[in-house]
Order: sequence, then structure tokens, then C-alpha cells
Amino acid sequence: MKLTLVHLYPKLLNIYGDYGNIIALKYRAEKRGIKLTVRPVEVGEPLKNGSFELLFAGGGQDQQQVTASRDLQKKKMVLRAASDAGVPMLTICGSFQLFGDFFKPFAGPKLKGVGLLPAYTVADKVRKIGNLVIKLNPSLRSTIDNLKSDLLVGFENHSGNTWLKDKSSALGKVVIGHGNNGKDHTEGCRINNVFGCYLHGSLLPKNPHFADHLIKLALTNKYGPVKLKPLNDRLEWQAHRQAVARAKKLAHPLLKYI
Ligand code: GLN
Repeated sequence: MKLTLVHLYPKLLNIYGDYGNIIALKYRAEKRGIKLTVRPVEVGEPLKNGSFELLFAGGGQDQQQVTASRDLQKKKMVLRAASDAGVPMLTICGSFQLFGDFFKPFAGPKLKGVGLLPAYTVADKVRKIGNLVIKLNPSLRSTIDNLKSDLLVGFENHSGNTWLKDKSSALGKVVIGHGNNGKDHTEGCRINNVFGCYLHGSLLPKNPHFADHLIKLALTNKYGPVKLKPLNDRLEWQAHRQAVARAKKLAHPLLKYI
């Protein structure tokens, strides 16, 4: 089996080390004999309907998001069609914000989004920075195989406050940290198989259950129902547990909801 993963704006949206998610997806696919081709798509480069089975986009500073917002207007119809076709996508922070309706930075004009995720973002003058642990949305938990943990753990660093049009579209509930806006205890957003969140870290290397879920969705979409053979994830789960324990130990009491 083979998959094509589009990495959107790897040069433009790359300052929070999110490339580790690409490495994790490639590793976990190829360990199972699945050929995963990573195709970078930069600003101004074409994105064709039906040319990819997975998509990833990372985070970036407000300035880079201005350029990304403009280019996304030329790609949004393809992205929306891919979402309707069930293509799994993972967007982190800056790209997450731009997969919603808009991102209004603290300074400067509102940046138009793709209008795919049912959310919008308005920057706050106080940045939300720190470890972030969330409990996966029950509706998503029930679809993830070999669920050894119902948590996702990462690191957040954003000015944006993201508001969901429907809280049931949240990726999960904040256990430690700020999440979407530091107020309604939601984190991330999902529609179809499109996921957005504030979890840098990189997210997937220490959340193997979610990495496998994305691969399973892509394969199922292309080939029909599949069951992924388990990998030896001793180190990945050790990293997951240690990151959660460290987040719990260091968290400010006002940012702990356990
Ligand atoms: N520039 C956006 C913000 O500050 C996104 C930051 C990011 O991608 N980490 O909210």
C-alpha cells in the first residue's frame, strides 16, 4: 500500500519544530511496509484534487500567516473537497487558525481562513505558553484502535484565542494548560477527518495512538477498512507518560483541571 502526504508550507510555517510529525508518520507507515511519499507544497505551488491522501501543516508567526492566508484562498476549494472526501488532515496552531474562518492578529488586518474548521481566532495580548494535556473527545476516542491513553500531550505557544461554533467539534477537553482560549476548556477542533490543535511538541512522536489513527484513516479512505499491526512503542509510550507526568508536576494550579 502507498500514501501521498502533502506537507503544506514546510518553509513558511516551520518555526515550532512541527516537522517531527512528518518524521513520525513516515516512520510509522514504513515500519508497516506502507510507502509514504511526502510532497511539499509551498506558496504559489499547485494543490490538485485527488493528488493526496493525507495532509499536514504546521505553525507560524503572524507575519508568515499573512502570506499563508493569501495563498490558502487559492487552495481552499481543493482543501474543502478533500475534507468532504474524508482525507485526514492535521493542522497545528498557525495553520489550525487559518483552516477556520479567520485569524485576527493583535496588530494588522483580519486574515481570511479556509472556512473548513467551524471556528475563528482572535489574538489576545497575553500569549498562552506551556505544556498542554487534553482528554480526547469521547466521539473520537471510540474510533481510535489500541487506545492505550485517552490523552494527547504537547506544548502550546499562541496569542490566538480560538472559539468553536459548536463545542462538540473540539478535539478534546483541557486537562492541563490553556487550550483553544484558556476559558472554555476546549482544545482543537475537528470536522470530518480534519483535525486542528495547538499541540506542538512535536505532537505525533509521543502520541503514537493519534499518529496511527491518521494513517488508518488515510488507508481506509483509499483501500477500505484496515487494521494496523501494532508496533513496538515502548519508547513512544514512555515519552508520552513522562511528558504527561512532567506537565502535571509543573502546571500552575489554575491551569490544572484534574
Ligand atoms: N501566530 C499565531 C499565534 O500567535 C500562531 C502561533 C503558532 O503557530 N504557534 O497565535
